[in-house]
Amino acid sequence: MTASTNLFAADADTSKPVTNFGPDFPFAFDDWIKHPAGLGSVPAHRHGEEVAIIGAGMAGMTAAFELLKMGLKPVIYEAARIGGRLRSQAFEGAEGVIAELGGMRFPESSTAFYHYVNMLGLKSKPFPNPLSPATPSTVIDLEGKTLYVEKTADLPPMFKEIGAAWTKALEEGAGFSGLRQAIRERDVPALKVIWDKLIPIWDDRSFYDFVATSYAFADRPFQYREVFGQVGFGTGGWDSDYPNSMLEILRVVATDCDENQNYIVGGVEQVPRGLWKLSPHNMAHWPKGTTLESLHRGAPRPGATRIERAYGDKIAVTDRWGDAKLYDAVLVALQSWLLTTYMQCEESLFSAKMWMALDRTRYMQSSKTFVMTDRPFWKDKDPHTGRDLMSMTLTDRLTRGTYLFDNGDDKPGVICLTYSWMSDAMKMLPLPVEKRVKLALDALKKIYPDLALEKHIIGDPITVSWESDPNFMGAFKGALPGHYRYNHRMYCHFMQEKMPAAERGIFMAGDDVSWTPGWVEGAVQTALNAVWGIMHHLGGESPANNPGPGDLFDALKPLELPD
Ligand SMILES: Cc1cc2nc3c(=O)[nH]c(=O)nc-3n(C[C@H](O)[C@H](O)[C@H](O)COP(=O)(O)OP(=O)(O)OC[C@H]3O[C@@H](n4cnc5c(N)ncnc54)[C@H](O)[C@@H]3O)c2cc1C
Repeated sequence: MTASTNLFAADADTSKPVTNFGPDFPFAFDDWIKHPAGLGSVPAHRHGEEVAIIGAGMAGMTAAFELLKMGLKPVIYEAARIGGRLRSQAFEGAEGVIAELGGMRFPESSTAFYHYVNMLGLKSKPFPNPLSPATPSTVIDLEGKTLYVEKTADLPPMFKEIGAAWTKALEEGAGFSGLRQAIRERDVPALKVIWDKLIPIWDDRSFYDFVATSYAFADRPFQYREVFGQVGFGTGGWDSDYPNSMLEILRVVATDCDENQNYIVGGVEQVPRGLWKLSPHNMAHWPKGTTLESLHRGAPRPGATRIERAYGDKIAVTDRWGDAKLYDAVLVALQSWLLTTYMQCEESLFSAKMWMALDRTRYMQSSKTFVMTDRPFWKDKDPHTGRDLMSMTLTDRLTRGTYLFDNGDDKPGVICLTYSWMSDAMKMLPLPVEKRVKLALDALKKIYPDLALEKHIIGDPITVSWESDPNFMGAFKGALPGHYRYNHRMYCHFMQEKMPAAERGIFMAGDDVSWTPGWVEGAVQTALNAVWGIMHHLGGESPANNPGPGDLFDALKPLELPD
């Protein structure tokens, strides 16, 4: 494990790693996928049977890869680009110099995700977060005052007091050390007792409410909440989450999503793309060497535009050119708003309550703008101060978070000039890329008045606003207070045995379905639930010595709140 990257890390016990284990559904996905007995099998007469996978993001590709291993034939529909929100865009003309437009820092607690990273032989390195050991220096610029720090110990007392208040607030409001210990130990009974008590309390209340009404912050100046909002996550993002359900924030900090983050060398998009090209070991039915790519003759099918019930128990999927195919099982692995916008999905496939959940899903907005530089010039020292010319920068100005990516002294560097969420991202939404870059450079000029950053920029900038892309309509889910029941309905939907026949056979997975949206591990874990659901739907089962999430569902299932 690397050292904490969180400025306000809530505890320091590293005797056992905290992983993304529960807390809502404490099933050990990491153990399940690495077990030598495999995830399960389908009856031989199902071998070669087509299963539709709509969406080739990390969730769709994980499910497709595991279903291929079982001898099924995944048919992948993709409206845009394999990888979805894991999008690593290369700068024109600069091989291997990339901008990570979606997910970019991956906590080591994402053990199911790293299973695939490791399987593909990809390398990861510590992400240059504020004050992380991978970051030579950090500048925190708030209310016009600029602070230069090289390590957490250099922070002025106010920051340490805010850190202590956050730790205290977590303990007081959520019995945090007990919760983390139960996750570390994978102690399911203890975890259930602690977490199930917190659900009804904190589902109704926002993150801001949690902070503002805690005793720990109550006797502190208002400025403490502001500063905590600016830098608390170590990414400049906490205050964008202030309206969110406190449960969601508790999950993030309890499972270390905000800690020990790495980037994937060469770009994270290699993970879903790698699964497309990798021939699995121990594959049922298919000849050695079969891959998802080879079964598709090189490219996924076009985007899906229609899903409807056909001939009683079949589901018809129609693509954008009008070709329709029939399936016994269909996995929808995309943002749920797309079911009522990009495509027509027959209403009777989901209950009215499920439609309510799918439509109430709330997305966060996010924008990033990157430039390529001639070299990692920021490491040069200012001859007067002896400090780095430029640092990883957190600010209350328009840019919010500026990240520096050092590809080596002999290669171009990359600067993420601005990474913002919610209203800060909305300020960028209508603006063309030139204007975004100009605004960011103007903001940074106020922090680094003597730096001629513009002289180092080469090539064309790259920008993204996920909310303006019709295949996404937003960056990721951010549940609001009162959304637990919606999350619960979507997450548990893979357990279909008690559902009316008309609603069976369509499964869902991905960031929307996850309890930890905005973190790819949730997309992977929900895909694995869907794999179990589809296998079961087609008459298959997990081996007795490696039971799957559905086999253990009754013992582990998330708390159900009354409707
Ligand atoms: C800005 C941003 C920052 C993030 N940062 C992090 C991070 O640092 N760490 C982390 O762990 N996670 C991060 N995430 C979250 C992570 O990227 C997601 O959880 C994950 O990539 C979601 O995968 P998915 O398969 O659920 O969905 P997607 O990746 O959205 O895949 C869905 C796919 O469906 C396709 N599609 C849409 N409509 C159709 C159609 N009609 N037919 C066929 N296909 C269709 C889309 O084109 C897309 O490829 C971030 C996400 C964003 C946007």
